[in-house]
Amino acid sequence: MSKKIAVVEDEAELASLIEYNLNRGGFQTRVFGGGVNTFRELEAWQPDLIVLDVMLPGQDGFEICRRIRQGGKLTRTPVIFLTARSDEVDRVLGLEIGGDDYITKPFSPRELLARIKAHLRRSEADTEPKQTNVTMGPFRVDLAARRVFQLKPQGLEKEVELTSTEFKLLEFFLTHVGHAWSREQLLREVWGEQHYVTPRTVDVHIRRLREQIEEKPDEPAFLVTVRGFGYRFEVQ
Ligand code: CA
Repeated sequence: MSKKIAVVEDEAELASLIEYNLNRGGFQTRVFGGGVNTFRELEAWQPDLIVLDVMLPGQDGFEICRRIRQGGKLTRTPVIFLTARSDEVDRVLGLEIGGDDYITKPFSPRELLARIKAHLRRSEADTEPKQTNVTMGPFRVDLAARRVFQLKPQGLEKEVELTSTEFKLLEFFLTHVGHAWSREQLLREVWGEQHYVTPRTVDVHIRRLREQIEEKPDEPAFLVTVRGFGYRFEVQ
């Protein structure tokens, strides 16, 4: 699937020049002419990157970018500003506005294309999981190696032997800390569409997992019971 680039630019001629070059570069493009609904329109389309002009009718690029960074689906989407004046640059990249880059008009489409590609590569690298080691109490979980270690006195570590299902269950909880899950939801998420497993299976695996990772399996500190519903994972 080709990446989606939003071009927010009210000058029709410039917008179509950009669009033409981005399409040739293999991107899916949509032009937004500005106006007070721009943020909502962008959020609905969910682009992978936004090229944003500063001077726009109704609402300027600064306001749109500020809104993007305030929260919602586009918070982490790279924004490259198109600026006409060099004195706008400091504001564009400042914390208050939150742009990722800028390009000054007039610019060559090839330069814009190169910047877009660089930012997309960077944002892809950002979404790769960075944290592979999770520590919970006396336990360390290496998600990449799929191993669990228990810290012993004098800094020694002993490996905790988990079955593949127990590890999958633990991994699921660690990536959804604080969220309560019903047995049915856990079956769907961890076991998938294996019809021979029943909600009781979940309880059995939870009990085994507690015996491995809890200091007091009867009074679990991490893998807690949510009465009348299911289970939740807590990290102190
Ligand atoms: Ca403009």
